Amino acid sequence: MPDFQPVRGMRDLLGEEAQTFTYITDKARETASLYGFKEVITPHVEHLDLLSAKTGDEIRQRMFVFKDLGERQVALRPEFTASIARLATTTLKKDPKPLRLFSVGTVYRYDEPQRGRYREFWQSNFELIGSSKPEADAEIILLSNNQMKLLGLKDYAFKIGHIGIIRSILSQEGIDEKTQNAVLQLMDKKEYDAALQLIASEKCRKMLTGLIEIRSNDWQDVAKQLQDYTAGYEKAKDAVEKLSEVLELVAENTNAPIKLEAGFARGLEYYTGIIFEIYIPQLEIALGGGGRYDRLIEIFGGEPTPAVGCAHGIDRVAIALQTQKANLFSKADKNVAVIPIAENLKFEALKIAQTLRNAGIPVEFEVMGRKMGKALEDADKRKVDFAIIVGERELKEGAVVLKDLTSREQSTVPLGKLVEKFKN
Ligand code: AMP
Repeated sequence: MPDFQPVRGMRDLLGEEAQTFTYITDKARETASLYGFKEVITPHVEHLDLLSAKTGDEIRQRMFVFKDLGERQVALRPEFTASIARLATTTLKKDPKPLRLFSVGTVYRYDEPQRGRYREFWQSNFELIGSSKPEADAEIILLSNNQMKLLGLKDYAFKIGHIGIIRSILSQEGIDEKTQNAVLQLMDKKEYDAALQLIASEKCRKMLTGLIEIRSNDWQDVAKQLQDYTAGYEKAKDAVEKLSEVLELVAENTNAPIKLEAGFARGLEYYTGIIFEIYIPQLEIALGGGGRYDRLIEIFGGEPTPAVGCAHGIDRVAIALQTQKANLFSKADKNVAVIPIAENLKFEALKIAQTLRNAGIPVEFEVMGRKMGKALEDADKRKVDFAIIVGERELKEGAVVLKDLTSREQSTVPLGKLVEKFKN
């Protein structure tokens, strides 16, 4: 037999790691509910045309693409936004705006695997569709803040930029959209020299070089600098004003530091306005990010509809929690193994197990038919807290033996008092 391993870049999640993922997705659902977002479940496989319409070359080239048996060109979703935009232009077209949609699940990108970078990874995704107002942008950033806070992450910070400012300047300087996309992709990778080389006009190169240098942890100072810097670029100036309004709303409601960087760009091509990412000091990779995308719905054939959204990388949040040694699992419930001494006692033993389970106590029932010694040894190995030993003699008196597997003490407990024992 071949030695089967998961496909490169894909992982099995076991034990505490699986529990951590569930913990994170639970917090994401809690956040969705607090902010009025409804969960939708969309397919993992979508038409290639839909997924590649506006994601940008970076992700387009990294999709898992295949033909299904009906000769359709399809792909595994590399993100959620395209599927949500499809919903907004079809099934939910007539629904009153805004739409607030939440999704969680795996997405697929053929990235080079390393710590925090996988080919199958999990995201929790939020899209707020139908508002162009600063308060919509603020809501998306604040729900991200809520998510990080609920998870128990410390010292997280927001990095914020605005694609609209960069694009407005480039457009006014006559740079076509295709070149703009290429410039932004390179800026996303911090390859600023390569980005600047794509621009023929010296004036525009100078303007962009200056813009890239405007960054600080004091967002109000950056906003002020940008107001001066965009003089003569009306659209860019409007964008700066809107950005300041969003940040005022956000800063009022979070203690997290906000670092504003005028030259910050993100890989996805559909962004038109504010963009952001979340970081902790201990990790260089972003835990999540998002931004405004006002033209995507229109590109998909819908009415022009403004929208803003974000995605949190669950795999990376798990690494962040581990790095910060967050204490996720306070073990409130004791777990119990119920073991009959002899085969003919299994009916009674199972009944006892069911009584405990009905009272909400987690029970592992002995299903291997093992002798008591072996079953106890196994319970010890798996760190079970208590064993209930069901023997004929005790049963006759309406009782069982309860063994504390940590202290090794044991006592006889009447059946009627068993549930109570674990509840205290
Ligand atoms: P994006 O959809 O590119 O905006 O990414 C949103 C978030 O997904 C990022 O901030 C990361 O936390 C996470 N992410 C992106 N790519 C990967 C990957 N290859 N492996 C794990 N997480 C990822």
